[in-house]
Amino acid sequence: MKNLYNILYMVCPFCQLEETSVVDSRKNSEGTSIRRRRNCSACNLRFTTYEKASIGIIVKKRNGNREEFNLEKLYQGVQNAFGGQELSEKKLKALVEAIHNEIKEQGNKVQSEFIGETVLKHLKDINEVAYVRFASVYKEFSDASDFEKEVAEFN
Ligand SMILES: [Zn+2]
Repeated sequence: MKNLYNILYMVCPFCQLEETSVVDSRKNSEGTSIRRRRNCSACNLRFTTYEKASIGIIVKKRNGNREEFNLEKLYQGVQNAFGGQELSEKKLKALVEAIHNEIKEQGNKVQSEFIGETVLKHLKDINEVAYVRFASVYKEFSDASDFEKEVAEFN
């Protein structure tokens, strides 16, 4: 019978053979990481790998669902707010990075509203059209009057 561990291929750091096998596997006491002893069948090197869950910021959404923070999605959202105009890619990246930094300051858990409000706060200073466009999407306005109120803030 094939050892199940053998499917967890890892390239040998010495001879680059792709099929090193796991000879021992154990969790740390908290169960948050797994240490594996591996053996390369070609050069006989024994080496250790550590497996750890790697998860970034968890976003808690208004409906209670949780998902991993997605920087690409934030970038897309901000980019869409500008409608492909008025902001160079460099400025857009700097803006997204500034927003991302504020989100990171919250730790590894953040409310989706915080992300929305942070984006809005930044957009408000830069471009009111982008601000209103983002607000209309992000806040998921239930009706047009909410949207008009936001627009009226500028007048
Ligand atoms: Zn090897």
